[in-house]
Amino acid sequence: MSRFAVGIDLGGTKVEACLVDEARAILARKRRPSEPDKGRERVVANILALIDEAAGGARFEAVGIGTPGTYSAGDDIMYGAPHTPLYERPGLVSLLRSRLAVPLIVENDANCLALAEFFAQCHGRYSTVMAVILGTGMGSGLILGNRLHRGPNGNAGEIGHTSIAIDGRLCECGRRGCGEAYLSGPSLGRRYTELAGEALSADKIFERYERGDAPARRVFEESFRIMGELFANCVNALDLEAIVLGGGVSNIPLWYEHVPPIMNKALFGIPGRRIPILKAVLGDSAGVLGAAYLALREMHLMEF
Ligand SMILES: [Zn+2]
Repeated sequence: MSRFAVGIDLGGTKVEACLVDEARAILARKRRPSEPDKGRERVVANILALIDEAAGGARFEAVGIGTPGTYSAGDDIMYGAPHTPLYERPGLVSLLRSRLAVPLIVENDANCLALAEFFAQCHGRYSTVMAVILGTGMGSGLILGNRLHRGPNGNAGEIGHTSIAIDGRLCECGRRGCGEAYLSGPSLGRRYTELAGEALSADKIFERYERGDAPARRVFEESFRIMGELFANCVNALDLEAIVLGGGVSNIPLWYEHVPPIMNKALFGIPGRRIPILKAVLGDSAGVLGAAYLALREMHLMEF
């Protein structure tokens, strides 16, 4: 008889759920608005209704949920979710847990994505991988020696807030020179505005790069160096075998060609290493799927 688990991806404006079986196949996937502006009870009601909808009567044994920021069980708060104030007030997760009859496992959404991408394209080939999400922000999840490395506080892998220039550009977090302050979609846009006086999305800057636009070429050439040096720092610190790039900005194909040579040149130690930068393959299903894997692990059906 099949066994089932549910994965939830809680975002600032929407929540998604999927039902998986023990073979990790997605049997159903649903989404609806999360409505954090209507309060905690409403968010929890939305999540519970969505779980029922995704399960469709199947008897699931555990639920995994990916959330923004880092959930601290001690004070029942998600830290680092500043765009959704409700999530940073205590009580949301404990309320959800109290309404569920099965175990609920909570994990950072970048870690969920890392897990899903790791099993989709690295497992068995690479054991030590960093998955980076580059979009409106920059986050990452770490799989070290085939294990999800969350750190004692669940806060490991904040590559977006490691600095590559101590007197560099001011980041939203208050520090200078953070990777996110250069490489996130909005940061690429800001750099283009500085150079050309025009506000453009990362996709549009890429279109102009293709047409030979000088400011666009400069934005990307600077970004290749920054990403290459930043990723080399991570490889040097963690002995990574591969890097997976996901999120909206990862759809720009330039990174995969231009960043590895810069990164590989900056590696320390064993010469001649070529660390691949792999494009994420699961698109927007990585979050829910990784969350479901947490539930499958709780059921002793997966190991990581
Ligand atoms: Zn920062």
